Formats: sequence, C-alpha cells, structure tokens
Amino acid sequence: MKENSNLELNDGAKIAVLGGGPAGSFFSIFALKLTRQIGKNIDLTIYENKNFSHDGPSSCNMCAGVVSESLVQMLAIEGICLKPPIVQRAIDTYCFQTIGGDVFLNSPSKQRGIATVYRGGGPVNQAASETDKEHVFERKSFDDFLLDCAEKEGAKVENVRIEDIKLNNGRPIIFSKRGQLPDADLVVGACGINSKIIKKFEELGTGYICPSTIKAYQSEIHIGEQNVSDLFGNVVYVFLINQPGVKFAAITPKGSYVTVSMLGKDITRQTVMDFLNHPEVKSKFPDSWKTPDAFCRCVPKINVGAARHPFADRIVMIGDASSARLYKDGIGSAYLTAKAAANTAILYGVGETDFHKYYYPSCRKINRDNIFGKIMFAFTGIINQTPILREALLNASRYEQKHPESGYKCSTILWDTFTGNEPYIDIFLRAFNYKLLLRILVNIFNAIFIRLKKSGDKK
Ligand SMILES: Cc1cc2nc3c(=O)[nH]c(=O)nc-3n(C[C@H](O)[C@H](O)[C@H](O)COP(=O)(O)OP(=O)(O)OC[C@H]3O[C@@H](n4cnc5c(N)ncnc54)[C@H](O)[C@@H]3O)c2cc1C
Repeated sequence: MKENSNLELNDGAKIAVLGGGPAGSFFSIFALKLTRQIGKNIDLTIYENKNFSHDGPSSCNMCAGVVSESLVQMLAIEGICLKPPIVQRAIDTYCFQTIGGDVFLNSPSKQRGIATVYRGGGPVNQAASETDKEHVFERKSFDDFLLDCAEKEGAKVENVRIEDIKLNNGRPIIFSKRGQLPDADLVVGACGINSKIIKKFEELGTGYICPSTIKAYQSEIHIGEQNVSDLFGNVVYVFLINQPGVKFAAITPKGSYVTVSMLGKDITRQTVMDFLNHPEVKSKFPDSWKTPDAFCRCVPKINVGAARHPFADRIVMIGDASSARLYKDGIGSAYLTAKAAANTAILYGVGETDFHKYYYPSCRKINRDNIFGKIMFAFTGIINQTPILREALLNASRYEQKHPESGYKCSTILWDTFTGNEPYIDIFLRAFNYKLLLRILVNIFNAIFIRLKKSGDKK
C-alpha cells in the first residue's frame, strides 16, 4: 500500500504552524487530536503575529464573518460549538434586494444554522467613542476562540511575526526578527493571502505559486443593537442594484454593527458612501440615520484562484494560501484543507509524494468546483445587469414560495449559491431543471410584454 516518502513524523516531532487564523488552528486541533488517538506525541507551535482580542483592522482577519450552515454543523460534530459571544447573530434568511423589490429566502432547514462572527476583537468601538451611552455588545473573536481550542489540545501559541523561510539541506527553517526559530520537521503555511510571507514561500523554488486574488472592501457600520435587531434581524441582505463597478454588495447583521462587504474593480470609500446613500440601501437604515464620516474599514485580498503545487518535502500550504471556495465559505475551505493536511502528515508522512497523494485531492476538489462557481457567478453578474432577467428570476422564486409544489428549486439554488452551503457543481446541475427554465422564459416574456404595453400606453 505504501508508495510514500520515508519522511514520517516520529514521536516528539516538531511542527511549526505559520499563522493562527482558521486554517492554522484547525490544522493544529486535528493534528494534535489524531496523534493522541494513535498514541503518539508531537510538539506543535502556532506562530501568530496578531492579538485577536484587540479592536480594529490591525488585529482582525478582515472577513464578513459568515460561518456557513454546513461548517457550523461539521464543527459541532468535532466538538467545536459556536455560541454567543462568539456568534454575533444567527442567520436564517437571505434577502435579495433589487431596484424593483425584494425576495426573502428562508433557510430550507428551518434552523438559524448560519452564524455571523467577528474575526478579530471587532470594529473600533464607534458607539463608545461617539456617545459613550450604549453598552458594548459582548463579543469574542472567532479566531481567538479557535486558537483557544488549539491550545486546549496542546498547541503552543507564540505571538511572533515570521519574517522569512529558507531551505537548509531540504529542511525548512523559519526566522523571526530575533533570528532563527527552533527546527521543525514540518512547516505548515497557514498565513492566508494578505501577508508578505507568502512570497517567501514562492521564493523557496519548490514550485509553489500563491493563488490569484482580487481586492474586497469591508466596512463596519454602527447602528446600535436595537436597530440591528429591528431593521435587519436575522437576515443577510444581498443588493442587486447594478451600482457601477460593483460586482457584489451585501450587508450582514452583527451585534450592534452591520458589516458591508463589497467586491468589484477599484472600490473606494466613495463607492461605499454611494452604496449607503442608494435609496434601496438607505431605506434599510433608521430614518434619522446619517452615513458616518468615519467607520472601521479594510481592503483585504480575497482568494479567487488556486495555488500551484501547495506542498513540498516538509512543507504544506493550507487554507487561503492553498485553495478556497470562490467568494463563499473560505473558512469552510480552511477547515477542509487543514483536516486533509493534518491527516496526511500524521497518518502517512510529510514528504512531497505524501501530500500529493493524500492531501492534494482535497484541494483539487475545491479547484474543480470553483470552475462551476465561476460559471454560476458569471450568470449572476449578467442577471444583475439585465433588469428583465433579474425580474424573471426573482419572480420565479416568489412564485415558487407561493406554490412550493411547483418544484422549481429556484429558492434553494439561490440560497445555496449565496450561503456557500453546497458544492457549486451540485447547484449548477440543479439549475438545469426544465420546469425552472420554462418558468423563467414565461417570466421574461411577461416582463417584455409589460414593458411594451407601458411604452404603448405612454404614446
Ligand atoms: C472581504 C472578505 C469577506 C469574506 N467573507 C467571508 C465569509 O463571510 N465567510 C467565509 O467563510 N469566508 C469569508 N472570506 C474568506 C475567509 O476570510 C478566508 O477564506 C479565511 O480567513 C482563510 O483562513 P486562513 O486561516 O487560511 O487565512 P487567514 O484568515 O488570513 O489567517 C492567516 C493568519 O496568519 C497570520 N499570519 C500571516 N502572516 C504571518 C506571519 N508572517 N507571521 C505570523 N503570523 C502570520 C495572520 O495574522 C492570520 O491570523 C472573506 C474574505 C474577504 C477578503
């Protein structure tokens, strides 16, 4: 059975995990659990330069913080239960807001299975600095919580920035500002894609090329806990309002803030202000509310392509530094790649051939699925820019909600695409449903007919 390398982790082997985001913590939790189960011992250190309990972007892993329903369930099975104050709000509904109206989609499972979290200590507290009146909604960083879980499994956590990585006789050695760190039998690259260190992995000459990225714009807007509950509730709003240069815009409710996430070319603070002042968006905020001059914001990169060769002898790249599901459930991809890498390292070996054989299939699965994701989002883009198509699709969803027996599956297709709950290939295949396509065609003809009639009446 074994065509593996002879690079196995012996009892007491040292592992250096570079990055304590979700991928680094998940890897550490699974590797430590597994070694215990097989009666071995490893010495695992996570090197993380951020302190997730501080407020603001510098301590935050810059993300909308929506944990998919499927990941919440998988984590619960692993004994990692997400509860307040880590969970800032449980989501059960997505609303697609267009210029012509909205459609609400409820979770097919009838549970509030999606969790919204903060990846750092949370936004700089606008409430306290402005009025000092509102109590601070209790919050604990998701990343801090996962690091705690890893520590409980036996990981050491060092608050250190890794500055360099080199190869010495085929063994990776890592450096902080103070110099070389203890030798490791395996270095796990869980540094995400927003850190300069990723280029150092490329420079090792192992064939690794980091994933392609685009910039995202993320803003945290304070409206107060009561307003969040009354105006947004447990609903994530996706805006299909065709704002120039904006590919995707959504508002996610948290404790006393809402997170505005935008994707597109050259998004600036002004694009965010224009978005917040758009009538369809403004109508979601309190009547007396004025767009704040200052708010917590960041411009992180988001993974939109696969890394090449994310492994070598004694090195494995995981999470965003390797493969991530396109636009959705990046934390879920961090979980999947971390688990596959931990299983490979502990059960098979830490050689290039081991990672190629046992780890890489998990990355390949995500990468192949993303091809279908690209097609789905290309369609969504066309639909967003074409009012007749937008109307036809949302009307099909509205009709289906009134007539569940129609069997269009339009609502579940939209739900799964935007929540990241199901593989894109499954959603893509479900979209080829002749009943749904027929309904959309009928809706398109209806929309054209109404437009022609209106222009005829005007004449
Ligand atoms: C705007 C935006 C919104 C998103 N929204 C969602 C969402 O709602 N749901 C979802 O599932 N995914 C979302 N994602 C994707 C998600 O954020 C990532 O897929 C996920 O964080 C990847 O986890 P990771 O551990 O691989 O990397 P990261 O979360 O980036 O963690 C890497 C860690 O490594 C540390 N590190 C880096 N360099 C060094 C160094 N030199 N020394 C020491 N430590 C270092 C960093 O400080 C960081 O803690 C979003 C991404 C963006 C950009």
